[in-house]
Parts: sequence; structure tokens; C-alpha cells
Amino acid sequence: MKFLKKLKLPAWIFIGLILGILAGLCFLGNPDFTTNYIKPFGTIYINLLKFLVVPVVLTSIISGVVSMGDIKRVGSVGWKTIVYYLCTTVVAIVIGLAFASGAKALNLFPVLEVSGLEYEASSSSVMDVIVNIFPSNMWASFTDANMLQVIVIALFLGAGILMAGEKAKPFATWIDSVYAVIMKIMMMIIKITPIGVFCLMCNVVAVNGPSIVGSLFLVILVAYLAYIVHFLVCYGVSVRCLSGKKFGKFVKGIWPAMSVAFTTTSSAATLPLTIECSNDMGADPEVSGFVLPLGATINMDGTAIYQGVAAVFIATCYGIDLTIGQMAMIVMTATLASIGTAGVSGAGMIMLAMVLETVGLPVEGIALIAGVDKLFDMGRTTLNIVGDSTCALYMTKLDQKRSAKKLAKAGAAASEE
Ligand code: ASP
Repeated sequence: MKFLKKLKLPAWIFIGLILGILAGLCFLGNPDFTTNYIKPFGTIYINLLKFLVVPVVLTSIISGVVSMGDIKRVGSVGWKTIVYYLCTTVVAIVIGLAFASGAKALNLFPVLEVSGLEYEASSSSVMDVIVNIFPSNMWASFTDANMLQVIVIALFLGAGILMAGEKAKPFATWIDSVYAVIMKIMMMIIKITPIGVFCLMCNVVAVNGPSIVGSLFLVILVAYLAYIVHFLVCYGVSVRCLSGKKFGKFVKGIWPAMSVAFTTTSSAATLPLTIECSNDMGADPEVSGFVLPLGATINMDGTAIYQGVAAVFIATCYGIDLTIGQMAMIVMTATLASIGTAGVSGAGMIMLAMVLETVGLPVEGIALIAGVDKLFDMGRTTLNIVGDSTCALYMTKLDQKRSAKKLAKAGAAASEE
């Protein structure tokens, strides 16, 4: 009993995960029971996390921008963050395409029945994605939880506060106080994570038992191999060489957020935990409050890998050989699609329609993998949030360097006087 009391939250989350898998295996023949009586508790947990997302993103970005003190610092961290996110996403798609093409060359992809497939795609064009970033009604963005628009609103509000100076101080203090309250609520919800993880995992295993995985096992395997390689190589290099931290320690630190992402399949819902874990590992809260909500919305390396693998797989099933030009097109559209993908469960599959359509591949092909999307989503969401956290650590390092340089300059100027 004493031993159990000593266990920390990450250990409890791990126990929840393992027990969830075991319980799911017990209910393999009876998934209705888990769907009707166990999953709802997992849904309550996700809802609790989700209701915090808009206020967390809004208040953390506004206070992040305001606490940076000047617009120049926001701009400096902002553009480096976006460049980092774009570069890692492009690397991710290239890895995804390389693995999928390798698997195709080795004839590993199964030949599936492609006739009579129907998939109602609601794909949007690349321009739609760009136009939709800008809100026309602030309240509608909040109620629809349209995170790209919420981010734009938060950036404008933060910049407005900085520019209004003294007059905006009460507003800035109020936002800070709301942020503190939201964080406290978040801590309460995070405490029930092991129960949420147990319920969600149990249902996933019971519903998606071995049969559904069957013929699609190899595609899922290829996607997971690509996820793992991106995780070890791209993030390994980033954490070790760019942020100067030990990769093993990083993995241990981000583990609670990883397991929540794996089970909730939502970067947005995992955001509170990603912030918590990243700050514990040394990310500057001012920087992470800005970088992580942005990342949870626009940085989706796992989703990009999935889209690359899925595009090659669907093309193979239809007997289409992708040209280099089409591959380049996939890199471009999947980067945009991953920016436009909401950090919620299953969103990546909806955006896959845009990628397929732009490249000229049959959108109905999504029906081939739709049944196991949850399994792809678990891995891709986990990768998505890890990528965000590596960026928060790197941006903290760059920002510290920048501040040190500024201090040294100021010191030199003072001693000259
Ligand atoms: N579920 C993913 C996320 O929240 C998005 C996706 O479906 O790819 O990051």
C-alpha cells in the first residue's frame, strides 16, 4: 500500500494504459459493453480537457505575447517557431513517403478490393484553408473552437495590449488572472488522467481487436516505423544538438503527455499536459505559452507522415504509380493540410481528402483505411505533441541566448559611458 502511495502520476498513467489493454482483451468478444459503459467515462475525461482548450490557448498566447514585453521579441520567437515547425513537417512527409515507397517496392502493401468503395469527402481547397485562418466573427471562432482563428485573435489581442501600453494594463492583468485560474482547473483534471486513459484504451482494444487490424496490419506497421524513425532521428537531433538536453531525459519528461495524446488522439486536449511537461523540463513558460498552443494547432508531423503513407498506399491499391512531381505535390499539400488540421481526433483523415484531390488520387480510397484510422491517429497525435515540445525547448534556448546577448551589449554600453 505504501508503495502505491509513492507512485507518481506518470506511473499511474502507465498502469492505466496497461490495465486498459488487458481489460480490452477480456472484452474482445463483447465490444458493446465497453462502448456503452466504459468509453463514456473516457469521453467525460476528453470533454473536460476539451472545454479548457479555447480558454487555455487564448489566455496563454495573450499572456505569452504580453510577457515577452516587446513586439520584436514576439516576432523573433514567432518566425523561428514557424520555420522550425515547417522544416520538421517537411522532413516528416519525406520520411513517410520514403517508407511507404520502400514498402511498395517490396510488395508489402496488400492488394485490397477497391471496387464499390464510397467515401463522402468534404475536402476543401488549399485557398480555403488559408482564407479560413482569418476570423470574421470572434465569438463564432470561440464557440466553434476553430483553433487557427483563436490563435489569430489571441495574437492580435496580445499585440494590441503591447501597443496600447499603460491603458491596457488592467486588461493584461485580468487575462493573467484568468490564465492562473484555468491552469488550476487543468491540474485538477490532469489528476484523473489514469482513469481516462484506462477507459479509452479498454474500448479501443475491445472494438479494434485483431480482426480489423488484419489485412491493414502492414500499412499500420509502415506508418508506425516512420513515426518511430522521425521520433528518434529528427527529435533526437533537435533535443540533443539544438536544445542541448539528454534525449532519454526528454522522453521521460514528455511521457505523461505522450500517453494522454496516444489515448485521447487529440493534440488540443493534450495541450495542458504538453505545457506542464515541457515547463518541467526547463521550457520558459513565457515561450512555451506561445509556442505550444501554436504547435498544437499548426504543427502535425505525425499527421504529415500518415498522409504520405496513406497517399502511397491508396495509389498502390488503385494500381497508380506516383511520379516524382506528384510526390513533390504531396509534400506541399500535406504540409498545408497538416497546418489546417485541427488538433482533434480524426481530423487528419478529413484533411487527407484535400491531399488526394490535389494530387489527383481517388478520394474514395480513404474508405480503405477509415476503419483503422483510430490506430493511425494514436501514433500520429503522439508524434505531433512531441514535436511541439521539442520546439518549446529549442525556442527557450534561442530566447535565452538572445537575452544574454542583449544583456552583454547593455553592459558593454554602460561601461563605455
Ligand atoms: N488527432 C490529431 C491531433 O490531434 C490530428 C489528426 O487527426 O491527424 O494531433
